[in-house]
Amino acid sequence: MQDLRISLLDRCNFRCPYCMPEAEFNEDYQFLTRNERLTHDEIFRVASIAVRLGVTKLRITGGEPLLDKKVVSLISRLSALEGLEDLALTTNGVLLAPIADKLSDAGLHRVTISLDSVDKQVFKVMSGNRGDLDKVWEGIAAAEKAGLSPIKINVVVQRGVNDHNILETLERFRGTRHIVRLIEFMDVGNRNGWSIDKVVASKDVLELIQARWPVRSVDKNYPGEVARRYQYLDGKGEIGFISSVTEPFCGSCSRARLSADGTLFTCLFATQGTSLRDTLRDGSADEVIVDILTRIWANREDRYSELRELDSDERPLMNKIEMYRMGG
Ligand code: SAM
Ligand code: SF4
Repeated sequence: MQDLRISLLDRCNFRCPYCMPEAEFNEDYQFLTRNERLTHDEIFRVASIAVRLGVTKLRITGGEPLLDKKVVSLISRLSALEGLEDLALTTNGVLLAPIADKLSDAGLHRVTISLDSVDKQVFKVMSGNRGDLDKVWEGIAAAEKAGLSPIKINVVVQRGVNDHNILETLERFRGTRHIVRLIEFMDVGNRNGWSIDKVVASKDVLELIQARWPVRSVDKNYPGEVARRYQYLDGKGEIGFISSVTEPFCGSCSRARLSADGTLFTCLFATQGTSLRDTLRDGSADEVIVDILTRIWANREDRYSELRELDSDERPLMNKIEMYRMGG
């Protein structure tokens, strides 16, 4: 395990239909209570043990991590961990502008900002009518000024929703040094109405881009990187593709995810994880947690993306965990 993603909370100020559709996540929905969520001390303890065990990359995510009012102090504790090489945060960007400087001063290295379309109307729909695109632009500008780079921009591509203006979105970022990552709409969870015909395969998106701005493929930054990288031949920057539907990358995956309620998952498409919460709360020594983490990683056999390729009667029945819970 090299890379640990930590979901701070399961709540969000957006209702992106591919992640937390409003029809399901409304006032009747039971989000985790404060007591059910890990405290920052508990999160810090798991992270520090993981780093001791060899994790070099941490990402704070959610839900929307910037809804956590104490996120800056958690970042400053995590950034001091010896051996940590990369500390990143994924956000929808709306709350970023006022705290970008503070996050940077606290030791955050970089941010990934989700922005599915630069078209106001499309953006609005894809945020479940909650997002304010101007605020996201302010967030991106503030992150750049604060040095939280390289800034990555996550774009989930959905057929019939934002695939018609991918080029427009890319154009806005060409020459800015921000790296747009085009993500295939994934069948995480069970509530987002996923079907294969809503997925636009990365190779089709690549073809569309090649026809407008020729690109060349470039090597991975590190083994286990899930995005396939390309550079524009005219020097206007880099883009990436995350194609877990059409090109599963399970074999090289080195990620684990800690959900807001303290469950550790070794696969984004997992049906079950291992809860650390009771162990964190029953006075167990760090060695017990070291043992659990080591065992979970050694025994993992998730390869859901690959299994997806099997015929439905060969595939295990799956009740997958939602993305907002597990952390994207
Ligand atoms: N709220 C923050 C945000 O949106 O950046 C962080 C959490 S969000 C779950 C992390 C990433 O997961 C986002 O970039 C989002 O677009 C992506 N995501 C959520 N549901 C997805 C899905 N069904 N397929 C592909 N990506 C998804
Ligand atoms: Fe919220 Fe991020 Fe999920 Fe959108 S993708 S609903 S912003 S957690």
